[in-house]
Amino acid sequence: MAMPREVCAIVGACLDLFPGVPASPAVLAMLLARVERKKFLTILDGPRIPYGAPDRIEIQLVGRKMNKLLVRVRPAVAPPGDGHHLIVWEYTVAATTEGMLAAIVDSGAVLANLKRGLCESCAAAEPPRKKLKCAGLQMCPDCVLARALGCRPL
Ligand SMILES: [Zn+2]
Repeated sequence: MAMPREVCAIVGACLDLFPGVPASPAVLAMLLARVERKKFLTILDGPRIPYGAPDRIEIQLVGRKMNKLLVRVRPAVAPPGDGHHLIVWEYTVAATTEGMLAAIVDSGAVLANLKRGLCESCAAAEPPRKKLKCAGLQMCPDCVLARALGCRPL
């Protein structure tokens, strides 16, 4: 028995890289080919803003044999003095279609966390640190743990 059309639409939406862009092998191969050709891909999370780019994912080809993807998430608004160099998250994955899928899915989750903002406790520390808040909390995981244990954050 086939699934109802409405259920297929909901399941299909969960398999999108971005709204309306399916996470198909062809799309992932096209994105990987783009990164291999240009060495760099930026995916904006929203329209351009007057003072620069919005929150964004940057995927760069790196490695001795250019076989890795360096994935970074940068916020739109940087604290004064940090300019556009602030990186809230980065990691490397293999330069394959599977790596591209992991890069987009993982960094998409970071973009969702970024909308919660940075931990104010860490920002007030000296020197200031930039860590993302936990889901449903007003602090980063380190500050939550430190407060629970009654000690200073790392
Ligand atoms: Zn913190």
